[in-house]
Amino acid sequence: MIPFSPPRIDDRTIEEVCAALKSGWITTGPRVRKFEEMLSDYCKVNNVLCVSSNSAGMELMLHWFGVGPGDEVIVPAYTYCATANVVVHCGATPVMVDVKEDFGIDVEAVRRAITPKTKVIMPVDIAGFPCDYDELNQLVREDAVRQLFTPDNEIQRQLGRILLLEDAAHSLGARYHRLPLGTQADLAVFSFHAVKNLTTAEGGAICLNLPHPFDNEALYKQLKIKSLHGQSKDALSKTQAGNWRYDVTEAGYKCNMTDVLAAIGIVELERYDSETLPRRKQIFDAYSNAFRNDPRFQVPIYETAEKQSSYHVYPLRINNITEQQRDEIMQRIFQLEVSVNVHFIPLPMLTFYRNAGYNIQNYPVTYDNFSREISLPVYYNLSDTQVQTVIEAVKKAVTF
Ligand SMILES: *Cc1c(COP(=O)(O)O)cnc(C)c1O
Repeated sequence: MIPFSPPRIDDRTIEEVCAALKSGWITTGPRVRKFEEMLSDYCKVNNVLCVSSNSAGMELMLHWFGVGPGDEVIVPAYTYCATANVVVHCGATPVMVDVKEDFGIDVEAVRRAITPKTKVIMPVDIAGFPCDYDELNQLVREDAVRQLFTPDNEIQRQLGRILLLEDAAHSLGARYHRLPLGTQADLAVFSFHAVKNLTTAEGGAICLNLPHPFDNEALYKQLKIKSLHGQSKDALSKTQAGNWRYDVTEAGYKCNMTDVLAAIGIVELERYDSETLPRRKQIFDAYSNAFRNDPRFQVPIYETAEKQSSYHVYPLRINNITEQQRDEIMQRIFQLEVSVNVHFIPLPMLTFYRNAGYNIQNYPVTYDNFSREISLPVYYNLSDTQVQTVIEAVKKAVTF
């Protein structure tokens, strides 16, 4: 069976994790700091904070911005549940909007969804393909949109407009106008979950990119404390002789990254541009070459003049089929010993959100994308022979 997305764990990864284990320091410490610095170099963002997951990072930032009951946060209907769940955790209301054929959030639909209650927009770079950041940045800065914005606290007053909080779970290494993602939105949060392009088993990182008059360096320090119970000193500085006394300045969260996991990330990032991304792109190209000229298939867009994907998910679509036919095709692909997946079941189709009153009929493009989508395996160790096996299995399985 060809697996869908196994992590790349080899001797180098194991050696670095063992080195962390043997170092005597296993929770947040020097390796997390080194990984943050590497990410900051890689993304060309001055301040990057590592956390325990993308979900925890997004929630931390919603809390920091003071998002709460009565507030609205605009999210795409087509995403993983984490994007909306963190909004629910804050007591705010996720306002779902439709996406475009390229899976990105529809900026015109976002515009129509803005109300005086809108505090945040959360674009999601589905499959690793960047959203329309020029248009989104322009939208939140338009006079009419600014005038609707109703700040409830000092931070919101300072920004004076809707916050752009990017769910960049898929898009580390993707590019927009040739720049790596991380600098396009006010805040961008990566995921290093086991199935993502770059993993630390579980983990995430927040890129701080707030405009003047925000001080991102000071915010980094503040969030470091906020992500560790609001404790004024972390465990490492407390180990210094005599440096035991600490204070708690707020009821903070507990979502720091550990050095053991940062060790995996350091190895992953060192070879990300030289090995991971080129191999993933080769696999994307092989799939597109195989399916592009066959009228049964619609291949995804992953490169344009202004955007370049991180090649996270290859979302193939089958033309002129129903959701049920898609499910049958997937079953046949599995029978041919190839694992495939669907990214994602739209939020309005999940019991929790359906019961909360969201209706998939209001998101026709989301439903169309979902009902015809099959994600193909993409990972560093997928061999050329296996790629051919996947292609043959898919072609054989589509009999409609
Ligand atoms: C994986 C994923 C997340 C959640 O990431 P975690 O690190 O597991 O919290 C959020 N959004 C999207 C789109 C994802 O695919």
